Amino acid sequence: MLVLGIMLTFSGIVGFFMFSAMSDSNDVFASSTFDAFDNVVRAMTIGMMVLGLVFIALSFYVKKHDEAKLAQERAAEEELSKKLAQNIASAARAAAPVKVRCRYCGALSDENDEKCESCGATL
Ligand SMILES: [Zn+2]
Repeated sequence: MLVLGIMLTFSGIVGFFMFSAMSDSNDVFASSTFDAFDNVVRAMTIGMMVLGLVFIALSFYVKKHDEAKLAQERAAEEELSKKLAQNIASAARAAAPVKVRCRYCGALSDENDEKCESCGATL
C-alpha cells in the first residue's frame, strides 16, 4: 500500500512536470484542442499525485491501527497469562496448604488456622 502510494505520487509528479515541459516547448500544438488535452492530462497527473498521497496516508493509518490492535491483543494475552499464573498458584496452595509450626508445642497447623490444631494456642 505504501509502495503503491509512493509510486503513484512519484509518477504523478514526474508525469506532471514532463508534460508541462513538453507542452511548453511545443508551441506548434498550442491550439485550443491541445490545450484541453493538456488540461485533461494535467488533471490526471494531479489526480495520480493526490491518489498516491491518499494511499500513503491510508497505509500509515492502517499500520497505526494494526499496531494499536496488536498492543491491545498483547495486553489481553498478558492479562490472561497473569490470571493463569494466579490460578495455578491458588490451585497449588489448595492442593498443598502451607503449614506453620506452633511456637509452643511444635505441631504443624494450616497457615490459615488462627489457633494451633494441637494445643489451641494462637498462631
Ligand atoms: Zn501448639
